[in-house]
Amino acid sequence: MSDPSPPPAASSPAKKRMVPCPNCRAPALFSPANPYRPFCSARCQGHDFGAWANEAYRVGANPPPDDKE
Ligand SMILES: [Zn+2]
Repeated sequence: MSDPSPPPAASSPAKKRMVPCPNCRAPALFSPANPYRPFCSARCQGHDFGAWANEAYRVGANPPPDDKE
């Protein structure tokens, strides 16, 4: 199969802004490539919005997307 998409970001040593995740303190990529910034992952992001998510869950109007990697 020929995939025209570019290779995964692994050849850019510089221009990477890392910030400590507010939830777990792990280095998180602070860039548009990370939709969960400043968190390191959806899990940590969800942690911060626990109460809000809980409310949304009760309503069940908009279930969060199941993001698998
Ligand atoms: Zn984290």
